[in-house]
Amino acid sequence: MTNRQLFLLHVAQTSEAPLALEISRAEGARLYDAAGKEYIDLIGGISVCNVGHRHPRVLEAIKKQLDAYMHIMVYGELVQSPQVRYAKALTDRLPASLNSVFFTASGSEATEGAMKLAKRYSNRTQIISFKNSYHGSTQGSLSVMGSEYWQQAFRPLLPGILQLPYNSFAGLEQITSETACVIAETIQAEAGVIVPQQDWLKALRQRCDETGALLVLDEIQCGFGRNGTLWAFEQFGIVPDILLLGKALGGGMPLGAFVADRKIMNSLTHDPVLGHINTFGGHPVCCAAGLAAFDVLLDEKLVEMVGAKEQLFLNRLQHPKIGAVRSRGLMMAVEFESFSMNKKIIDALISEGVFTDWFLFADNCLRIVPPLNIQEQDIQLACDRIISVLNRLS
Ligand code: PMP
Repeated sequence: MTNRQLFLLHVAQTSEAPLALEISRAEGARLYDAAGKEYIDLIGGISVCNVGHRHPRVLEAIKKQLDAYMHIMVYGELVQSPQVRYAKALTDRLPASLNSVFFTASGSEATEGAMKLAKRYSNRTQIISFKNSYHGSTQGSLSVMGSEYWQQAFRPLLPGILQLPYNSFAGLEQITSETACVIAETIQAEAGVIVPQQDWLKALRQRCDETGALLVLDEIQCGFGRNGTLWAFEQFGIVPDILLLGKALGGGMPLGAFVADRKIMNSLTHDPVLGHINTFGGHPVCCAAGLAAFDVLLDEKLVEMVGAKEQLFLNRLQHPKIGAVRSRGLMMAVEFESFSMNKKIIDALISEGVFTDWFLFADNCLRIVPPLNIQEQDIQLACDRIISVLNRLS
């Protein structure tokens, strides 16, 4: 049997129509399939591979850590230098109040941890989230997802969740002194790149301050330079009480984190002791890889180049079939009239050697979230192919 047949038979499926493309190698912003065909990767593992696939400094850091140790003990007991050094590097680049990093193994677990932390610290139970938000697929993170379609089959979910419209001032008074935390993506990704009004995030911050609710910002997808600043919240003049990180955090390895002030974070250490624990959070090899990727991001000044690359895409992506392009940095949604049109375009692009997909809550939008170090000529080539597919389909 071929690998593809075995994949369909023995690897649990998440949809009835998986792409089932077999990738045998990845390098920089390129993927290569089993037949040796090359693809420009416009999605970088969906905002994971911000420094590209197999960056030599990331590989080197992984190898070095493999020679020292891999897993040695559940998270939180032993001093493991990759965790320590990465937590220091992250907090050095975050506002002073975000000084304590709780590492997890995934983004969903970061959401879970933050929800528990907010309840424990505030002694309150209500959690508020927003329509069309995505914070993960576990039961807790699914409970704050902003989509009835994905929630309904799995009810009952967590009680005490209230959902408000994103980017709407009207809902904010529903945040009260009963609210443990409000969780929001700084820029909504799966909704098809929805950038909130500047003043809205400020008003949200202010309402949280007035009521004592903690503000949790999810930058699992939009952090690490994706939107043109290291952290998306910098663009809105606010600081969250808890920051969620994942995806690019691990430099291509599985890693998540929630970050808060240690005054808040320490509430997980008592009543009960070990209030939040996990075996693999902050895996030393993942932290070593993540730290190396973080260093690359900073040393190669990749964040500074995001705006010019965004502009290059925007200049080239002009076609009567394109309804709109919504973007902030290298997170872009190219809107078409329907899902079926978008799917046709995506399939044609894949056969032309451009790898992309659509968004969970915006299936008529093509996703562009490439490695931040994608070369200009790859951007031009990808755009040329997109335009030629659109011409052909017209
Ligand atoms: N939050 C956001 C904004 C995400 O995009 C994702 C992943 N798509 C998650 C949380 C969940 O992360 P993970 O898939 O690693 O659990």
